[in-house]
Amino acid sequence: MRTEIATLGEFGLIKRLTEGIKLENKSSKYGVGDDAAVLSYPSEKEILVTTDLLMEGVHFDLTYVPLKHLGYKAAVVNFSDIYAMNGTPRQITVSLALSKRFSVEDMEELYAGIRLACQQYHVDVIGGDTSSSLTGLAISITCIGEADKDKVVYRNGAKETDLICVSGDLGAAYMGLQLLEREKVVLKGEKDVQPDFTGKEYLLERQLKPEARKDIIEKLAAANIVPTSMMDISDGLSSELMHICTQSNAGCRVYEEHIPIDYQTAVMAEEFNMNLTTCAMNGGEDYELLFTVPIADHEKVSQMEGIRLIGHITKPELGCALITRDGQEFELKAQGWNPLKEEK
Ligand SMILES: [Mg+2]
Repeated sequence: MRTEIATLGEFGLIKRLTEGIKLENKSSKYGVGDDAAVLSYPSEKEILVTTDLLMEGVHFDLTYVPLKHLGYKAAVVNFSDIYAMNGTPRQITVSLALSKRFSVEDMEELYAGIRLACQQYHVDVIGGDTSSSLTGLAISITCIGEADKDKVVYRNGAKETDLICVSGDLGAAYMGLQLLEREKVVLKGEKDVQPDFTGKEYLLERQLKPEARKDIIEKLAAANIVPTSMMDISDGLSSELMHICTQSNAGCRVYEEHIPIDYQTAVMAEEFNMNLTTCAMNGGEDYELLFTVPIADHEKVSQMEGIRLIGHITKPELGCALITRDGQEFELKAQGWNPLKEEK
């Protein structure tokens, strides 16, 4: 079934998409339905705000990304930024611009993904806007969250001798993207052929349905650890390490042998004839957390499941470097995964 958006109109569409939304958080005083939403946060909290704009053809490709997954991911990447400040996401607003190619049912799919993510992370949709677009789909999500005033973690707090930690594993989302891009080329024009992704499910999941590391933030809080600096890994470990070091006026040493990599990522890198460490250091979109802790927390973090110690913070004069398995030092470069860079 395909219902043209024009049959509902802008207000009708918003009404359809936001039907039945129940607000879960105390701080969400009033959501969709008036000129503005009303939020009410206790005075002992800091309020965190982050926003993200995704453009079709630049940030996502609908030939292999299902709309529901896209909605889920668009919401989750915003939650990830709030967790990366050691906070808790509470509300989002969702703005969409869509061309005539999209139907009401398409937008319901996209919203189903957004609403699923919100349910899973206990976040309220409190507003948004829709508009028409001449070319393709654009999604902008703004997320609002909270943190205790003394618990907010910035990028600029890393100190010499601090330990550098990373959650989960790296490079899988990037390999998932390579895989999808390869199948897209191979299968062009052959509508009936289904690619075989057996044994590569983890890579696809990491690319198509990433999760924000709420669990790690909760574990750190339970262990009474407040990182000295933190950010989420969206552009690649190299680039994020350099952000932390630049903003903290520090250097770092990270060890190749300690970079966490999944088996499927390694197999895929070999198949593509790519350097595995490069993929893990520069592949983007893993949405894992990179953080530093004082050396006094060594025992506590080394016992935490799902967290790897990958190196330490140094004096700024020493720069940022990767130590390879055979003991060579390579200066870190932020190759990153920033689509804007390719246009320069
Ligand atoms: Mg971030």
